[in-house]
Amino acid sequence: MNSIDLLKSLENPELNNPICLSPNFEKDIDKQIDDIAQTNDDEAKQLWICKTIAGIQKNFISAFQNIKTEDYYEGWCLFERCEIDLKFLLRHFTIEENDLHRINFINAMVVRWQKLYPYKFFGSPEFLVKKVTCGICGERITPRSNCGHLIGEIYAGKCCFELVEELEFLGLGIVEKPVQKYSVLFSTDPITNENIDHYDYSTVKFVADRLNSAFHEWDSYATTRVISATELVNLPLEKPCPCVSGKNYGACCAGKSNLTIPHLQICLSQPPKGNFPENELFLL
Ligand SMILES: [Zn+2]
Ligand SMILES: [Zn+2]
Repeated sequence: MNSIDLLKSLENPELNNPICLSPNFEKDIDKQIDDIAQTNDDEAKQLWICKTIAGIQKNFISAFQNIKTEDYYEGWCLFERCEIDLKFLLRHFTIEENDLHRINFINAMVVRWQKLYPYKFFGSPEFLVKKVTCGICGERITPRSNCGHLIGEIYAGKCCFELVEELEFLGLGIVEKPVQKYSVLFSTDPITNENIDHYDYSTVKFVADRLNSAFHEWDSYATTRVISATELVNLPLEKPCPCVSGKNYGACCAGKSNLTIPHLQICLSQPPKGNFPENELFLL
């Protein structure tokens, strides 16, 4: 298939059995790129675009499936993969007005999912980079010399990256806005040394439970909600205070007649299927 037909076949990934999920799809394109890379640079670049779109669609769908099966960290990593690939793709691909490949949609939804995650701090490894080479020609890159290949540009169907070949580990910082979002901080079991996922994913789960497809749109809005005195009457004093101060209710807001608390409002574009509490109000 040439790149025009391939691009067409990648339209509407929200329909059943999207082609991006077929096994070996990206591998087959790679083979095609290898075959023509030396003779047809333009077509090789178009094939790279097809391959990148397929990868983004596939990772987005898989991330949603991971959330559905409560493999939250795996889903998080795939959203991060989408974010990185989107950055490279959008330098070379102009999204059609009706977003047939759902690239605009995925770009927006990845950010919305990331916002729901409970991860606030990340490990940020600091390195002293000693040797970097060009991913296209292999030449060493130094502050004074470089081979002329540009990072993120496509050469014979391959995207140019810098390859770090030697580095020295300096330390680990803890940051709120990491360069790479994979490095979520987990606690470790002192006996087995395995990571313990202590995070509360209830908000992510709340949204995922109400969606039947990764391609159903939703959004969240941070607002506040007032809890009335009648609702507070039965709240045990030793429970965490709803104002999210971190203190117990008894030591915090007990005695106040009503309480304003942070509240996340979720809006869905499609009514959810299944049994959900009647007091949930769905704004469609
Ligand atoms: Zn180079
Ligand atoms: Zn309080």
